[in-house]
Amino acid sequence: MLVSAKEMLEKARDGKYAVAQININNLEWTKAAILTAQELNSPIILGVSEGAGKYMCGYKTVVAMTSAIVENFNVTVPVALHLDHGSYEGAKACIEAGFSSVMFDGSHYKIAENVEKTTELVGICNSKGLSIEAEVGSIGGEEDGVVGAGECADPDECKQIADLGVTMLAAGIGNIHGVYPANWAGLSFETLEAVKAKVGNMPLVLHGGTGIPEDMIKRAISLGVAKINVNTECQLSFATATRKYIEDSGDLKGKGFDPRKLLNPGFEAIKATVKEKLTLFGSVGKA
Ligand SMILES: [Zn+2]
Repeated sequence: MLVSAKEMLEKARDGKYAVAQININNLEWTKAAILTAQELNSPIILGVSEGAGKYMCGYKTVVAMTSAIVENFNVTVPVALHLDHGSYEGAKACIEAGFSSVMFDGSHYKIAENVEKTTELVGICNSKGLSIEAEVGSIGGEEDGVVGAGECADPDECKQIADLGVTMLAAGIGNIHGVYPANWAGLSFETLEAVKAKVGNMPLVLHGGTGIPEDMIKRAISLGVAKINVNTECQLSFATATRKYIEDSGDLKGKGFDPRKLLNPGFEAIKATVKEKLTLFGSVGKA
């Protein structure tokens, strides 16, 4: 069964660790993330962007596949299925399809419109027992065409959105999606502290978790970050392992062309990356 992310995030906030959101792209990704969480007795959030949802043949397919994997392996750790950077329409479609959590990214709207749409979606999610994430201050880099400039969120706007009753809040603190450029200035802990002071107990979300130095991750968790999104890093480790298999002519040896063999090194590489993240974020053994 898929669960809301509310309880796992509140436990993470209180226990000073973070739950990983691992974005998924296909069966191998989903299986790798779920099995690693189960092996390490850790809660996990599976992130699905609108583009990834389309790629996986629609939200209903994603819900069916994910729930069935959980059932097939008798998974006992909490697994949430979460729409990542959802549009207003996308959030509604995922709620309809059976997602247990959604993010409504209204950061590109004026604050009044962000408030209005977030309020409506909070009402729907609350009535169905689903968790909902909102975003204030556009997060830099590119995620399915939503491009931002690497902003720092306005703490007052964060409070305004947090007070609408969202489960978790993503605030831009200088973080960027994708691979960080060499001249990246680092996270703004000043902004994070200011946001935390305004929003109190609200679990905070750090997007763009790929390549943020470990000490910054730990400091962010100590300052109230309870969920960290990881997407690009799994893609890179999958691609590197798959490249190596092909370059080593793995596909030309025996039945190495069998997709179950061809995709296995990438699958194992995703598992290793997820394990590394769950360990770094401190959620191992916390299910
Ligand atoms: Zn993001």
